[in-house]
Amino acid sequence: MAITGAPELLIVMGASATQDQVDEVIARLDEAGCSAFVTPGREATVIGAIGERELLATLPLEGFAGVEQVLPILKPYKLVSRELSPDPTVIEARGRRIGDGYFGFIAGPCTVETRDQTLETARAVAAEGVTMLRGGAFKPRTSPYAFQGLGDEALEILQEARAETGLPLVTELMDPRHVEAVVPVADVIQIGARNMQNFMLLAEVGRADKPVLLKRGPSASVEELLMAAEYVAREGNERIVLCERGIKTFERTTRYTLDLGSVAVLKHETHLPVIVDPSHAAGRRDLVLPLARAAAAVGADGIIVESHPSPEEALCDGPQQIPTAEFGEFAREVRQVAELLGKQIG
Ligand code: PEP
Ligand code: MN
Repeated sequence: MAITGAPELLIVMGASATQDQVDEVIARLDEAGCSAFVTPGREATVIGAIGERELLATLPLEGFAGVEQVLPILKPYKLVSRELSPDPTVIEARGRRIGDGYFGFIAGPCTVETRDQTLETARAVAAEGVTMLRGGAFKPRTSPYAFQGLGDEALEILQEARAETGLPLVTELMDPRHVEAVVPVADVIQIGARNMQNFMLLAEVGRADKPVLLKRGPSASVEELLMAAEYVAREGNERIVLCERGIKTFERTTRYTLDLGSVAVLKHETHLPVIVDPSHAAGRRDLVLPLARAAAAVGADGIIVESHPSPEEALCDGPQQIPTAEFGEFAREVRQVAELLGKQIG
């Protein structure tokens, strides 16, 4: 259900509060012309009160039976904040999971180039027990002369790869005009870094019945990323995975600067799973493993990495793709760090 206003107040119910007591608070908010957004938690139920801040301040909510605390939500992002939903969100697609104790290991080609290249990569990553298969059908390219992806044909190939491996598909939606083609096929809809603040597109996926993988824009702040996620959530879709993929800085030795600090901050600020893309951040294959390990160590809920049977022939992002022949070793190293943190591959 789409949310029309921003939750302004947090009503924390006591651990022993009854459903009747929760309902009474909701009824009182209703009566005052406000509304409620209820999050049942492990420890306690939290009610987000939506309405004019001044009006909410006049309601004697603290005096209601079962209410433990009433706090203003000061952050500009509300639905995605940890304040409103303290328990971590787990995203699920076709029985595979990302978040909490589940480390989402997403792997596959940058771009679907041919049927053989895609199926070979899908088989190689599936054999290592990854969580989901990635692959671009519609590609955002810096140059209009570069390969733009196979489009609908790529979506057919991806479905074949899914049928064979059982892996859920992660693929990018670039334009609201592609919703009909991409959304029914994707198990997780990727919103690319360049589209992080394409607000019409965010609203589209907010209305879709599929999880969303939202990548941080190369020049976007952490707060802007969370506000972009809020655009999706307010349309009713809270199945969002955030992705740190490197930002633009003065540094030239890596393609982007991987901001691992943002992962630690995001884990603090939001209940949504946070994953890392070491491939696009590094831009070179030899750095992908150390960055992937670091991502797991900092507490990321997963990674998304690119792999190709012969990267030297890749039509896109060849220098950073891990040869499928080396993928097994790569996966084992990453898995070790994730397990060290008490996580299992989702
Ligand atoms: C990708 O994942 O293929 C991609 C284009 O990434 P980004 O949007 O982060 O550049
Ligand atoms: Mn790529």
